This record gives sequence, structure tokens and C-alpha cells, in this order.
Amino acid sequence: MHRVVIVGAGFGGLAAARALRDAPVHVDLIDANNYHLFQPLLYQVATAGLDGDDVAYAVRGIFRRQRNVTVHLGRVAAADLDARTVTVERAGAAPSTLAYDSLVVAAGAVSTTYGVPGVAEHAIALKDLDDAVALRRAVLERFERAAVDHGMLARRSLDVVVCGGGPTGVETAGAMMELFTKVLAKDFRDLDVASVQVTVVEAAPRLLGMFGPASSERARRTLERRGVVVRLGVGVDRVSADGHGDHRVELTDGTSLPAGVVVWAAGVRASPLAQALGVELGRGGRIVVGDDLSVPGHPEVFAVGDVAASRTAGEDAPLPQVAQPAIQGGRHAARQIVRRLKGRGSEPFSYHDKGSMATIGRHDAVAEFPRRWLGVQRLSGFVGWLAWLGLHIVYLIGFRNRANVLVNWAWNYLTFDRASRILPSGGPSDVD
Ligand SMILES: Cc1cc2nc3c(=O)[nH]c(=O)nc-3n(C[C@H](O)[C@H](O)[C@H](O)COP(=O)(O)OP(=O)(O)OC[C@H]3O[C@@H](n4cnc5c(N)ncnc54)[C@H](O)[C@@H]3O)c2cc1C
Repeated sequence: MHRVVIVGAGFGGLAAARALRDAPVHVDLIDANNYHLFQPLLYQVATAGLDGDDVAYAVRGIFRRQRNVTVHLGRVAAADLDARTVTVERAGAAPSTLAYDSLVVAAGAVSTTYGVPGVAEHAIALKDLDDAVALRRAVLERFERAAVDHGMLARRSLDVVVCGGGPTGVETAGAMMELFTKVLAKDFRDLDVASVQVTVVEAAPRLLGMFGPASSERARRTLERRGVVVRLGVGVDRVSADGHGDHRVELTDGTSLPAGVVVWAAGVRASPLAQALGVELGRGGRIVVGDDLSVPGHPEVFAVGDVAASRTAGEDAPLPQVAQPAIQGGRHAARQIVRRLKGRGSEPFSYHDKGSMATIGRHDAVAEFPRRWLGVQRLSGFVGWLAWLGLHIVYLIGFRNRANVLVNWAWNYLTFDRASRILPSGGPSDVD
């Protein structure tokens, strides 16, 4: 049986494995986590709107009925592209090797500090479930401390600075402000929560660079109307600690912002696995691929999603690191594997742009859909927000997750409450 190894059970890896459902192949699907993570809703976990397991789904559960898939929990540390093997590290076991006939690398991206001093030590990224839970805990713990130490407000120890004005930064800032003004203001009645500041810092002259200027402007106005401070055209120079558990974000224009919590949403680079493969890398450490998404010189190796510099055949610009290129790339790689098994040549990849969306908080979102004959169609405000809700429900995996998210959203919407703001003790319970 032809053996396909897929590294990564994110959007790209899942799409590839599912597309091989009826193919005469055996699939080994390897992921460093035992769950598939729906990253677009991570910011809602960070801002207490959803629980971690609402946005994650056990990979073994997804493939329970797909008999040609074996799921492995482990980290692929290296691959020998000539010997056609990958080395898998598993907790509590010696590294092992798995042989393949076709390999699909869908290992995604990691957050990058771009070398800005202090970011790794003092900022919280928003890339995986642990980050989101850590961010939520950092914010809630500060409010609990401020309940007994009101001086924290004057010291600006509750302020949040979000570095990066892309969709993640905008969504996080909007939702954080809403958490403060609509929820925590009622929980902490003795605190002047209205004085807590949320700031977004973006080096480019506008927010949401991948959207058109009208959507960027709308996002800025909406955030500002809701109380978020937006700083455009200025970068982050350094993040430092003040010795009392607070931070200072120093900006390239010489000013600085005090912050209790610093969120790093400024960018990603390809998974370190890309480098370990010893193949040609492009900007951001992304694997250079040919028109059919295979790695030059290795037609049996495909790279898809955030880890790859994939592009529509004949175009220069690599596709953005968002979900659709990963999903479509994963399906394309699977199709090429099947075509080759049938003795056919491979087809070039052609990306179908379904558009982009970002929420700016309750009732407001921006969405852009390119249409061949009509140009870019824009949706914003309440209609954009409804479209955003609907699409995220459709793409979320698992009936239970969809039901939970819908119930949570309805609850949040009707009551202005956030269900997920418990602070687990983090240790075992006392035994008497
Ligand atoms: C906070 C946030 C919000 C986002 N919002 C949106 C949005 O609104 N819309 C949108 O389209 N996109 C959004 N994105 C981007 C989108 O999530 C990614 O583009 C998409 O997940 C890429 O899919 P992928 O399959 O390439 O990688 P991923 O989905 O990241 O999956 C990679 C998988 O590989 C695994 N892995 C990595 N290295 C190894 C290894 N060495 N061995 C084994 N397993 C490994 C990881 O555990 C992971 O499961 C967002 C991303 C983030 C972080």
C-alpha cells in the first residue's frame, strides 16, 4: 500500500487526510498535539468568550471512521528526503522513524518576535491554546490583584498593549475592550475599569493591511469609538519589565506605553521543521514549492499552508498565511498523490480566493469577497458580523464544538456575560 505521511493536523493536514479518504493509500497523520486547533477563534478563548475545548477537537475523534488513517501524537524533528523517512519524537519514548512514499508537510507557522528585544520574555503571543489560556489568566489575575491594590489602576498595571494591527490584533483588542467594559466593570464594581486602556500598535499606516483602505478605516473608527487607542505608523522597539511585574512597551518614535499585559500579534514565520528539511526557503522561512505544491527536486514531497510559500501557478506573490490557502493546498496535494498513482502527471495549483473577514467586536465586522465580474464586494457592520458568525460556525470542526460555540455566543450576546472566566488553581486539590 502506498504510504502517505502527513505532518500537521491543522487546516492543511486535515484537508489532505480527508481528501485521501477513498484513495488506495495508508495515511500516517502526525501532530505534536492530540487536537486540531481552530486558531481563528483563539482570541475568544483569550478574552473569556469561549473555552479551550470549544475551539479544539481530538484528532483521533476526527478520523475515527476513516480506516486508512493512523493518528500519531509526536513531533517530527527531521526528515531524510533521500531515504524517504521522517523522525518522530514522542514523549516518554525514543525517537522513531516512519517511512513514506509521499510526504505532505503541513506544519503551519510559529509566532516570531522579529528579534525585538524583550518580546520573548515579557509578551504573550496568541498562536496556540496555551497562549490563549495564559493571556486570559494574566488579565484576570491582574484584576483580582487590583481588587485589593487599587494603586494598580494609577500605575496602569491593568492596561493591555496589543502589538500588531492585523486581524488577530484587531479582534483581540476589540474583544478585550468589550470584556473590560461590559463584563469586568460589573464584576469589579469598586474599580474604575473605564480608565483601563487597551492600545493597538501597528507599524504600517493602517490596520488590517490585507483588506482595502475603506475596511481598515472602518476598523480604526470602530475600535476608537469603543475606547481602544490605535497607534499607527509606529513600531515596537523593545518590551521591558519595570521590576514590579509591569511592563513598558517602547516605540520607534521614542514614546513608550505602560502595560500590565503585552500581547504579541505582530507576525508569524514558518514552522522550524521547514529549516530541518534542508530545502530551499523563501521569506519568513517558508518552503519554496513548485506549481503543483511539490518541493523542487522531490516530486513526492508536498508543502502546504502556512509552512509553504505556495502561490497560484504563474503568479509571483505567495498566498497569505490564512486558512483557505492551507485547506485548498491540502486538497490539491492529496489530488496529486492520487493522480500519480494512476500514472497521470500533476496539475498546477490554482487558488480560489473566498475573501477575508475580521470582527471588531459585538455587532461589527469587516468582510471582503472578491468577485470576478463585480470586483471586491464589502460587507461591514451588523451584516458583516452575521456573515462572520455563520462562516466560523461552518468551518469549526465537530457538532459539539459548533453547538457549544453557538450557545456561548447567544449567551454572551443576550446577557453581556462571559462564561469562561474561571481561574483554575493550577495545582492538585488538598487531601486531608
Ligand atoms: C490567533 C489567530 C487567528 C487567526 N485568524 C484567522 C482568520 O480569522 N481567518 C483565517 O483564514 N486564518 C486565520 N488565522 C490563520 C490560520 O489559522 C492559519 O493560516 C492556518 O491555521 C494554517 O493552517 P496550516 O494547516 O498551515 O497550519 P496550522 O493550522 O497551524 O496547523 C499546523 C499543525 O502542525 C502541527 N505541527 C507543527 N510542527 C509540527 C511538527 N514538527 N511535528 C508534528 N506536528 C507539528 C501543529 O501542532 C499544528 O496542529 C489565524 C491564526 C491565528 C494564530
